[in-house]
Amino acid sequence: MIQSDYLIVGQGLAGTALAWTLIKRGYRVHILDRCEPITSSKIAAGLITPITGLRLVVSWRLDEFLPFATRFYRSVEQQTDTHFFELKPMLRLFSSEQEQEQYRERSQTHFPELVSVPEPLADPETFEISRGGFEMIGGQLDVPLYLDVTRRYFESRSWFQQAEIDPVNDLEFQATNVRLPRWNLQADKIIFCEGIHSQHNPWFRTIPFEGAKGEILTLKIPGLKERRVVHRGIWLAHWKEDLYRAGSTYHREQLDCEPTPAGREEICSRLSEFLKLPVEVIDHRAAVRPVIRGRLPIMGLHPEQPQIGFFNGFASKGSLQTPWMADHFSDILEGKVPLEKQLDLSRKLNF
Ligand SMILES: Cc1cc2nc3c(=O)[nH]c(=O)nc-3n(C[C@H](O)[C@H](O)[C@H](O)COP(=O)(O)OP(=O)(O)OC[C@H]3O[C@@H](n4cnc5c(N)ncnc54)[C@H](O)[C@@H]3O)c2cc1C
Repeated sequence: MIQSDYLIVGQGLAGTALAWTLIKRGYRVHILDRCEPITSSKIAAGLITPITGLRLVVSWRLDEFLPFATRFYRSVEQQTDTHFFELKPMLRLFSSEQEQEQYRERSQTHFPELVSVPEPLADPETFEISRGGFEMIGGQLDVPLYLDVTRRYFESRSWFQQAEIDPVNDLEFQATNVRLPRWNLQADKIIFCEGIHSQHNPWFRTIPFEGAKGEILTLKIPGLKERRVVHRGIWLAHWKEDLYRAGSTYHREQLDCEPTPAGREEICSRLSEFLKLPVEVIDHRAAVRPVIRGRLPIMGLHPEQPQIGFFNGFASKGSLQTPWMADHFSDILEGKVPLEKQLDLSRKLNF
């Protein structure tokens, strides 16, 4: 039997951040993932957008989470000798008078240090900029690369295993640990970081998962020189050479990973409202974001079976929130701090 301190089920953004954090604290971690080709993390654009929505709201605890995430990704980059995280300028273009008005009302009071207004905002031959906008510094994580280098780093140390865990039949509990005989594994605790799949995990059946399907396009746009991420209802982000990504949709129905003609049409038509160049669709993907009612991440040990943990609910904010939240959860596992009430698993399990 391979003995570890923590088994982590799921190597998406959540499980990956938690695994690195626990390893850096000296724990023996073994991570298990079923290696599906399409997951929420694998298709995510990895954007960290400081100010979002029609009402121009500053992302929750941005001043704490963004510097923390930046340090975290830099340290994993160093450890794996790779580059996958960048702080980069983002352009927000207004599409209505209402947005211009929100900006006038809020920019001086709510985010005076976060924005600037370059002159010109962007090339008017390329973008519709007549209603104005602003620039902000956000972040972009190359999520597939971050997940891939992590998996290879862990594999080379025998800390990673491809496995589909059955949360009922695979687990045997002993007084102070949990065993997975089918996989020859034993650990003090097993932490489920399964994303939306946890809605089918019987240990967490009362958690109010909602899920939100997102679709994303890869586009070829010859002649486009813009390297900033451009937001106007949807976003357009440079990927490599003349390839860009655009997205994403956000829908509560038909929660599956099937790209739809309606999703493609929605992105293309919203893009054509601000981009004046022709685009060619190269790729189209869809997945389901793990949203839990209340829209905050949820974590903790199971009140009835404390060898089992849960770390999930990162919705659209996995790139920004998982590093800080993994650190917070590790502090809780070590008994150093109390769990923030709003993030507490047991409240969602109705215990
Ligand atoms: C179209 C789209 C665009 C997005 N864009 C952004 C963005 O720009 N910025 C951002 O921050 N976020 C974005 N997100 C959201 C972000 O991707 C999520 O916050 C994040 O993926 C959640 O990660 P996770 O690890 O919780 O879940 P997942 O990514 O779903 O990972 C769970 C992993 O666990 C594995 N697994 C599940 N059950 C088992 C089991 N029983 N045994 C073994 N393995 C198992 C799965 O195969 C998967 O690999 C986007 C999402 C979508 C769909």
